[in-house]
Amino acid sequence: RQMVFRLSTGSSALDTLLGGGIESMSITEAFGEFRSGKTQIGLTLCVTAQLPKTQGGGEGKVAYIDTEGTFRPDRIAQIATRFQANPEEVLENILYARAYTVEHQFQLLTLIAAKMTEEPFSLLIVDSIMALFRVDYSGRGELSERQQVLGKMLSRIMKIAEQFNVAVYLTNQVMADPGGGASFVPDPKKPVGGHVLAHASTTRLYLRKGRGEQRVCKIFDSPCLPEAEATFQIGLGGVEE
Ligand code: ADP
Ligand code: MG
Repeated sequence: RQMVFRLSTGSSALDTLLGGGIESMSITEAFGEFRSGKTQIGLTLCVTAQLPKTQGGGEGKVAYIDTEGTFRPDRIAQIATRFQANPEEVLENILYARAYTVEHQFQLLTLIAAKMTEEPFSLLIVDSIMALFRVDYSGRGELSERQQVLGKMLSRIMKIAEQFNVAVYLTNQVMADPGGGASFVPDPKKPVGGHVLAHASTTRLYLRKGRGEQRVCKIFDSPCLPEAEATFQIGLGGVEE
């Protein structure tokens, strides 16, 4: 049986907040407003996941499900360079797939699990977990069905995390219309996905913008981590400081 490991986020302050980084065999979810840094953390993890374990890495490949079309190979190359890794090799070790429907997202997980039986992986990313659910189950009466299918998907993801000893990083959006009423102002502290997602995520991170390129990360609702904050920067080399 393999040992649990932790992947560096690229920021030592953030790693410290997380007790060493994002954990394998576990689901870490980051939510926050547009441009709060959710995807940049994912892109940085794509690189650190491949580094030696002595450097905060996971010595494995990465599976990346992109539902929003925001994956940027050129950013991966920049981040790889920062970590003195070969950009082409790093890119080749990312199994990238764009998902267009919830059903497609499910199929990709099956494909990814098959790949994981063949080669060592250390990370699975879904950016973002809820986007397609919100499109495919947008009707008024569809919420309970949505939550049921979401629950199935999350248990499949958790099974992958445990079976292959990979870290899972999910991004999530914040609620735009909490009461279904007239207000369309996003509530930055309310992740979507309800209690189903809340229950599945081992660690939930709330991200917000600070000054300039600074970002603030707060542990949200954790039974075992303190409600502390960490400040990090986003730069050319990804998540920094
Ligand atoms: P989210 O996924 O939460 O919507 P992102 O992770 O895409 O947000 O973060 C986007 C932000 O990252 C940009 O607004 C910018 O501030 C920062 N960023 C992206 N690329 C760079 C870069 N090369 N140098 C510095 N900052 C960058
Ligand atoms: Mg994003």
